[in-house]
Amino acid sequence: MNKLGVHALVWEAGWSHDECSRAIARTAEVGYDFIEAPALDPGSIDVDFTRRQLEKNGIGINFSLGLDADTDISSGDREKAGRGTKRLEDAIALARDLGATHVCGILHSAFQKNAVPTTAAGVAMSVDIIGHVAEIAARSGITLGLEVVNRYESNVLNTASQAVEFCRRVNAPNVKAHLDVYHMNIEESDIASAIRDTGDYLGYFHTGDSHRGYMGSGSIDLAQVFRALVASGYEGPIAFESFSSRVVGQPLEGILGIWRNLWEDGQDLAAHALMYTRAQLKSAQETLKQAERSRLP
Ligand code: MN
Repeated sequence: MNKLGVHALVWEAGWSHDECSRAIARTAEVGYDFIEAPALDPGSIDVDFTRRQLEKNGIGINFSLGLDADTDISSGDREKAGRGTKRLEDAIALARDLGATHVCGILHSAFQKNAVPTTAAGVAMSVDIIGHVAEIAARSGITLGLEVVNRYESNVLNTASQAVEFCRRVNAPNVKAHLDVYHMNIEESDIASAIRDTGDYLGYFHTGDSHRGYMGSGSIDLAQVFRALVASGYEGPIAFESFSSRVVGQPLEGILGIWRNLWEDGQDLAAHALMYTRAQLKSAQETLKQAERSRLP
């Protein structure tokens, strides 16, 4: 069974005690299994307080982050790569302390618009460092999800096939592709085929829609997406990610280009996304059974 989660930015922009307790309580109230919290600044997260909120509400947590220009492990610059390694190690320690199973996002490069393509040396450095971080993560049973994002947010992993190649180069069982339907809609030729071709390399999935608002209110053929996930036997986490200028502040709204309110009520949005995701999964499972049910006597 896929664990279903929701991104913390549906609720709150930060992780103060108030924000943390509200975000976790609302995630549990709607009925999700886990919250995905940004670990952009691991030092700002009160581990003991967060653990108590998770226990009180009976849900889990996973973390996502993106590196920046100063911590870019694909830059080829040893000092930046050293800071990036430290940033990733800090996120793993935080995830370990809070019992997370997954650390995902743009772990492989800087989360930014680039003016030039990446280089072979940059990719090689990123592969080496992800391999090192994966060893540390494995000791705590944590899987790394390398998020494939659109061309305006990274110059390293823009397609699922690039992520599979990257995972093969790292060659660690806990390094997987993290696919996101919003980005796939921009970059992939065929979203469903890309999911099926990723196969066992898929380790984390972000749902949403073409405008990152309400699921099913955009232009993505989500039925095909869920059919591909179910047909390929994917059983990992599925997290709903959505952004509105109602919640997101700087610097994220600038990097992501969040200029308009796609929704006002995070509770209504999150409850709808959970219902929609469950219905899509159920429909996809029934689709698979059609072949069996259609056999001639
Ligand atoms: Mn995403």
